[in-house]
Parts: sequence; C-alpha cells; structure tokens
Amino acid sequence: MSEKRKAVPREEIPWYPTIDKGKCTECGTCVEFCKHSVFAIIDGESKVVKPFNCLVGCSGCVSKCQEGAIFFPSIKETTKLIKELRRKYGID
Ligand code: SF4
Ligand code: SF4
Repeated sequence: MSEKRKAVPREEIPWYPTIDKGKCTECGTCVEFCKHSVFAIIDGESKVVKPFNCLVGCSGCVSKCQEGAIFFPSIKETTKLIKELRRKYGID
C-alpha cells in the first residue's frame, strides 16, 4: 500500500481570483470558462464562490475577461510562500 503524498493544505495557499466589481459587467464568461466551479452567478452577480477550487498557478480566466476585471496575487510572492509552507510541513 502506498503512503499518501504529503502536501501543503490548499487553504493555506492564497491563490484564487478576485473580481473588481467596478469593472465587471456580470457577463458570466468566467463562470462558463472555469471548469472548477470557482465562479458562480448569484442574484445576477458573478462571484468567487469556491476560491480553493482554483488550480494553483492557473490564471486562465484572466485573459477571458474582456473587462480586465479578474486579478490574481503575484506569482512570485505566491511561489515564495509555497516554498516556505513546504519547509514548514517538511516536504522536500
Ligand atoms: S468575465 Fe469578467 S466581466 Fe464577465 S462576469 Fe467574469 S469578471 Fe465580470
Ligand atoms: S485560474 Fe483557472 S482554475 Fe482558477 S478560477 Fe481561473 S480558470 Fe478557474
């Protein structure tokens, strides 16, 4: 039986989109595009409903938003943080 691979808990990695509601037109493109159900339309408004379903390192929805309303944290900072977390959890 193989031992389960150690991993940093997903909830500790702050990689997920945020929507600038000043720019968003509620077109729903991000909701349709993301296959991981990160976005949903609730009461006519697009929202990030399952942030930790977002794949770490993916930013595919950014270029799909015609309004430039989707933002992510810095990949450089996130990579640094992941390295620190891996050290914390004793993952090589
Ligand atoms: S694709 Fe952009 S403009 Fe359209 S709902 Fe999503 S965030 Fe808003
Ligand atoms: S970055 Fe990828 S996984 Fe994350 S919300 Fe956008 S399309 Fe979905």
